[in-house]
Amino acid sequence: MDPQTVLQRAVEAHVRLVRFLYCDNGGIIRGKATHINGLVRRMAEGIGQTLAMQAFASIDALAAVEGMGPVGEFRLVPDPTTFVILPYAPNSAMMLCDMLTLERQPWAACPRTFLKRMVATAAQMGMVMQAAVEHEFYLARATPTGYESFDRSLCYSSVGFDASARIIDDVIAALERQGLQVEQFMPELGPGQQELSIHHADALRAADNALLVRETVRGVAQQHGVIASFAAKPFLDQAGNGAHIHCSLWGAPGAAHAGYNLLFDPRGRGGISQMGFHFIGGVLAHLPALVALTCASPNSYRRLLPHFWSSAYTAYGFDNREGAIRIPSAFWGREAESTNLEFKPADHSGNPYLALGGLLAAGLDGIRRQLDPGEPVDLDPGNLSDTERARRGITRLPTSLDAALDALQADTVLTAALGPLLTSAYVAVKRLESRYFADKPPEEEARQHFCKY
Ligand code: GLU
Ligand code: MG
Repeated sequence: MDPQTVLQRAVEAHVRLVRFLYCDNGGIIRGKATHINGLVRRMAEGIGQTLAMQAFASIDALAAVEGMGPVGEFRLVPDPTTFVILPYAPNSAMMLCDMLTLERQPWAACPRTFLKRMVATAAQMGMVMQAAVEHEFYLARATPTGYESFDRSLCYSSVGFDASARIIDDVIAALERQGLQVEQFMPELGPGQQELSIHHADALRAADNALLVRETVRGVAQQHGVIASFAAKPFLDQAGNGAHIHCSLWGAPGAAHAGYNLLFDPRGRGGISQMGFHFIGGVLAHLPALVALTCASPNSYRRLLPHFWSSAYTAYGFDNREGAIRIPSAFWGREAESTNLEFKPADHSGNPYLALGGLLAAGLDGIRRQLDPGEPVDLDPGNLSDTERARRGITRLPTSLDAALDALQADTVLTAALGPLLTSAYVAVKRLESRYFADKPPEEEARQHFCKY
């Protein structure tokens, strides 16, 4: 869409403000808005933002990163293809942005640019990644001391469907008006917990869509006087909120096997190709570091527990919901098309551009080095003895954000993919968040994470 077409659509919808949004290193969606009078001009010029914002943590405090202080700025330049009218805010629209330097170059600290780079690397290897996120969230209400669940419904129960029906119908209508295709909805395990999934798209669009869903669910819930929480573990004694990533790899246009699902091989074990197993091998090899990007908050590590179906070990398996990677059984008659991998240790505190880019970088490394993922696991790895897990090469995922960051800093593949500036800014931001919550009681930590995402 060219700027004039965007302007025309905005005028027709009586838009006054167009938000220029991005997701920062703290996983927070932030931005500034332009009045429609300056829209066309600002689509080319961008909106100025201080360099410090990529060192800004999710506690609204600045981490110490060289060059990210009070001096200097970058420009938020919107991607016009992401333009949507906001169904939950009056006369408002938004676009998602890339971060450009004043020399009009992609800024090395821009997460969306990082994902674009990983997508380009995959394309060089003849591959395109398709992805979709399962969005789990709680509907809740504020109380004088914290938050309480919106209802007491049971897992998948029709009572839950009824309790949330009006809100969810408005959410789905709002998503449809923004061009998103909803696949499934269900009342999840936790009281007031919901799950919504969106049709898959190429990796960049899938990450954009994940932000769009967060914005929309939060916005619509607010219109109903309810709070939507995307925190990883908003209620310490209930199921966590995952953002499981489903992904598949397809032959890139012009490459060998263009348009074919490269994960699928009817002769392969369980219908999975050798390349698919190498991809899994790469993800498992980098998993302790990767979770620093996909489970990005101190609160995330209260979710990654054995027996909560969130995954807690470096294991994978066919239809195994305790595996960090589940290979879901393909759909009848659509085997080639529907074969995909589900990556479970991900939640909405992870910036989706970093999460998907990191996942892609890890998997591609597995393909390049032909890594062997070992044997699939067909039981709950949490029920195995330590000795048995060690024998199978299964290890516990990091149990804190700091432990995950240690692994990330030691992972030369992921840090090289991120580049030095994004790595140092990201780690500094996350270390600051970790330090801030280190001496806070878990209840306070959960309370402060409740509404961030
Ligand atoms: N809520 C679980 C999690 O934290 C996932 C439950 C499921 O969808 O299997 O990942
Ligand atoms: Mg679920």
